Amino acid sequence: MSAKYYVAVRPQINENHAVHKEGCPFLPDDKKRIYLGEFSSDKDAVREAQLHFIKTKGCIFCSKEHKKYEEKPSQFVWADELIPAESEGPVSYHQSLIYCVN
Ligand SMILES: [Zn+2]
Repeated sequence: MSAKYYVAVRPQINENHAVHKEGCPFLPDDKKRIYLGEFSSDKDAVREAQLHFIKTKGCIFCSKEHKKYEEKPSQFVWADELIPAESEGPVSYHQSLIYCVN
């Protein structure tokens, strides 16, 4: 089954442009994303995104099978690269959202 994919115009902290699937909670605003098209796999979408940006990467949230996180999103464990080193203590779901968008 294919899905619509978008790539973020603004890179993340690691300089990769995140590739999002339609419906992802971290999908940037209309003006901050580029529509890639419909793809049946994340890899195809990332490959297409690389025509726009050199460094692209599938969104850690929507490019992976995340059904196991749907019930308890607050327990979603973020990749270290998205969390600033100075961050201590539990990072809330809301704070993680801000880090991802910025
Ligand atoms: Zn995403």
